[in-house]
Amino acid sequence: MKIKQFTFNPFSENTYIIYNDNSADCVVIDPGCYSPSEEQRLMEFFRNHNLTPTKVLYTHCHLDHAFGAKFLAENFPSIEFYAHVNEHYFIENAIAESRLFGIEMQQPPALTHYVSDGEKIPVADTEFIVIHTPGHSSGGICYYCEKEHVLFCGDTLFAGSVGRSDLHGGNEEMLIHSIRQKLFILPDETQAYTGHGYPTTIGEEKRGNPYVSLYA
Ligand SMILES: [Zn+2]
Ligand SMILES: [Zn+2]
Repeated sequence: MKIKQFTFNPFSENTYIIYNDNSADCVVIDPGCYSPSEEQRLMEFFRNHNLTPTKVLYTHCHLDHAFGAKFLAENFPSIEFYAHVNEHYFIENAIAESRLFGIEMQQPPALTHYVSDGEKIPVADTEFIVIHTPGHSSGGICYYCEKEHVLFCGDTLFAGSVGRSDLHGGNEEMLIHSIRQKLFILPDETQAYTGHGYPTTIGEEKRGNPYVSLYA
């Protein structure tokens, strides 16, 4: 499994491409490309590696993680969109939500697959397990690859921080509970690829994340 990270849009959101050398299929986690130059950078990467994206896996559907969804659907009409059912709200209300942030966006396509906690999704030469981690968003999920010791945790956990919980469906207590009960039980060496900022490890966050350790 190979991972390519892009940082896109005015919110500096991380978009990840998961691929491997033996297949033309690849998966996009949280397509955040916004400007034409970002769209071109993404397309160039697909072209240079002979890749066709077949799935979008959303950690959650906040606008900064969905800006590029329409663009992908236009260029790859058979691409499928996976998210937790609770994220339906953000797809339905994307245009209205984006106005609240004072930013324009194109309506993201409808979700094609609802995933739930514990579900396994084949990706590249491996599989991801869905971990439901509500708190930042009620349908927030993480994708865990046990074989590669890798976690894609969206905006649930950051290096030295946690996601905000003041947006629609957010809940601070639930967020900390999700991190402690669902993420901090993973092996310390698990590499956590976050929705914003630099990657970290579960061990590092267990030892030093002030938001989680200080929360009563
Ligand atoms: Zn978010
Ligand atoms: Zn975000």
